Order: sequence, then structure tokens, then C-alpha cells
Amino acid sequence: MKRFDIGIAICGGGVAGAVCAGLLAESGRSVALIEARQPQWQPPETDFDLRVVAISPGSARILASAGGLALHNPARRAEYRRMQVCAATAAVEFSAQEHGLDQLGWIAEVPALQQAQWQALDRRGQVHILAPARVDSMELRADSVRLGLDNGQTLRAGLLVAADGARSRLRQMAGIITEQWHYNQAALVTHLTTETANDGIAWQRFTEHGPLALLPLPDGRSSIVWSQPDGRIQKLLAMDEDDFLDELNAHQDSPFGSGLSCSDRHSFPLIRRQARRLVHQRLVLLGDAARNVHPLAGQGLNLGLADAAALAEVLESWQPNQDPAAALARYQRWRLGAASLIASGIHAINEIGHGPSPFNTGLMGLGFRVASRLWPAREAFVKRACGLDADSPRLSRS
Ligand SMILES: Cc1cc2nc3c(=O)[nH]c(=O)nc-3n(C[C@H](O)[C@H](O)[C@H](O)COP(=O)(O)OP(=O)(O)OC[C@H]3O[C@@H](n4cnc5c(N)ncnc54)[C@H](O)[C@@H]3O)c2cc1C
Repeated sequence: MKRFDIGIAICGGGVAGAVCAGLLAESGRSVALIEARQPQWQPPETDFDLRVVAISPGSARILASAGGLALHNPARRAEYRRMQVCAATAAVEFSAQEHGLDQLGWIAEVPALQQAQWQALDRRGQVHILAPARVDSMELRADSVRLGLDNGQTLRAGLLVAADGARSRLRQMAGIITEQWHYNQAALVTHLTTETANDGIAWQRFTEHGPLALLPLPDGRSSIVWSQPDGRIQKLLAMDEDDFLDELNAHQDSPFGSGLSCSDRHSFPLIRRQARRLVHQRLVLLGDAARNVHPLAGQGLNLGLADAAALAEVLESWQPNQDPAAALARYQRWRLGAASLIASGIHAINEIGHGPSPFNTGLMGLGFRVASRLWPAREAFVKRACGLDADSPRLSRS
């Protein structure tokens, strides 16, 4: 069996890992991408996948630098120019125009983003792709990392990036302690047809059970993400479509009117995770392998893409024959700080947002009033959510 010697090995070719591979290869690194499941190519006429994400303008720039944006079919993404967030007693609205932006972001399917980025890697031909292949063993040494794959291949790399998702095997093998918070909630997702088309508003309401978001799809439907206590989720999944729509409509007063029909319904368990460290010797965690956040602010993949750009930035002056410790320490400080701030903010909003007490409702109302009236707070919020603030990687700001 062939043994590879490579500068940087990336385990996990989801969107974050594949983008990281593209950015590092673009900066002249020798990169191998190991992915357990070869992505399935999606015919253009297939219905929109239920796994959709909000992509910020900063993330779109990162995707563009990695080559994936140019190959992503524009007919499969919907831009949103306004965002409305409502709670029991208050509401707040943001618009791209008032912040000098063309849009606040796009809604796009995870598989289509992954497919576009893999096509970009394929066309540029700079990355050694090992797929389907699963990393089975890892040995961290002072000057290198040895990997064993389930197909019998072995690799020696100067650096190993774990982009292998929320239940990262590499993170576990390295013994990195990870804090976990079970929300006892799951996110119910479906695509909803409403009385009027959603032509570009990301709308969200904090309902008594959890946050409900209606996000625009290119065909005028809304992709809904409704976080629900575990006890209710099975009931909502088991209901027939009419009963489900009655229940949903009782909780949504979006500008698009009532929901008239919906696609299949699925659910994803919600767990917050945060690895205590992102670097262990020559292993670096990135994307969901580094942390998971509640989907209410649509930040999970955006954080992963910022990780990829930040890693490429700190490694700019690193040579493979040098110790990467200083560059990796900078990455860890930067990304632990930035992501923890966002994750804690999202966590607090979720906790306050669906608490039924007058104290919670009052606190939420106060927060919304501040966000509505205090321009510096609004501007800072929008800049950070869009990946355009001073702490964002250079690629997402430029
Ligand atoms: C309901 C919901 C809504 C969301 N909405 C948003 C949103 O609006 N905006 C946003 O930014 N984010 C959102 N997210 C989060 C977002 O989907 C994730 O953060 C993102 O998809 C994670 O990407 P990743 O590449 O880090 O990990 P993954 O997509 O999990 O990729 C990991 C890859 O590693 C591979 N792998 C695993 N183990 C091995 C191994 N041992 N060897 C080789 N390969 C391996 C897997 O096959 C997989 O392809 C949402 C999540 C949910 C559940």
C-alpha cells in the first residue's frame, strides 16, 4: 500500500474541511483531503434539500476565494436583504440597505455548497483527494502526524486538521475535553408554501416552545427551522400535514401569511459543544469538530468557514520544516475567543427567548429596544453577524 508524505492532511470533506483544503492549496501548500463519504452529486432539478444554512457575506467571500462560490448554481441560493426578529412584546428589524450592504446573506443547501467546493478542488487539481477513506488511527509525534486509513493507506503529515464534524473522532482520539450542553430540544425542518411568496426576508419568532425561523428559498417557499422540546418533536413529526400546519400557523404571524402546505419533515437533535482547546501538538480542530452552536442565529457553518480562513491566515508564513506551535497558538486564541463569544450569546438568547416568565419577556423586550434604537449596537451586531467586523479573518473582510 502506498504511503503519502504531505504538508497538511485534512480529515473531513464537509463544507468547512473542503473550503479549508481549497484555501491552503491556493496558498501553495501540499494538501490531502480525506473523506469517509464521497459526496453525492445532486441533479439540478432535485427539490431543495432540507439541510439549508444562512451564509453571511463574509462567508461568501471565503467560499469565493476557495473556488466554490463560482461553481455554486445561483438558482439554488436565495438572498435575504431584511431580517425580522419578534418576541412576545417586541420586534427588531435589520435591513441590508441601512448598513450599506447589498444583502445580509444567502440561504443555500449544505450538499450543494459541498458539491460546488469539491468541483472547485477537482478543477484546480491541487489537492490529493482520498475518498471514500476513513481515518482509523492517529499518532501525534513532535515533528509530524501519522495517520492510518481504513483502506490500508498510511500518511505522514506536518499538520493535521480535524474537520470531521460534531462527533469528531480525531478530537476524541487526541483526548481533547469537550463541554456539552443538551438543550433537550431538536430542530424541526421543512419547506413551507405560504399565502404570499417569501422574496427575501429572514423572519424569526421566539415562540413559547422555542425559536421558529422562516428563511427564503429561491422558489418563494420558506425553509423553516423550529426548535422544539424533545417531548413535542415526535408529536409534530407524526401529525398529518393539515394538523401540523394548524399547529405551525397558531405560532407564526410572518409577513407571508399562513402556511398552506409543506414538504417532508425532519428533525436534528440540538447539542451545544465546545472543545476546551482547538490545538493539540500538530492537530487543529475546525468547524463543527471545534464547536456546535444552536441554529437560531444561523452561525454554525459561518464559524467553520471563518476557522478555515483564519487557519490559512495564521499559516501564511509557516514553512513545513518549522515548528507550527506559534501560528497554531494564535489560531487557538483567535478562534476560541471569537466563537465562544458568539456561542455564549446565542445560548443566552435561546435560554431567555423561550422562558415564559415576565422577567424573560421583559429582558428580551429590553434587548430588542436597544437593538432597535442604538445605532452603534445595531451596526456592531450586523457587522459581526455578516462576518465583516475587525475580528473576522482578512479574507471575509476584503
Ligand atoms: C437545523 C440546523 C440549521 C442550521 N442552520 C445553519 C445556518 O443557518 N447557518 C450556519 O452557518 N450553520 C447552520 N447550521 C450548522 C451547519 O449545518 C454546520 O455547522 C455545518 O454544516 C458543519 O460543517 P462541517 O464541515 O464542520 O462538518 P460536517 O458537515 O459534519 O462534515 C464532517 C465531514 O467529516 C467526515 N468524516 C467524519 N469522520 C471521518 C473520518 N474518521 N475520516 C474521514 N472523514 C470523516 C464526514 O463524512 C463529513 O463529511 C445548522 C445546523 C442545523 C442542524
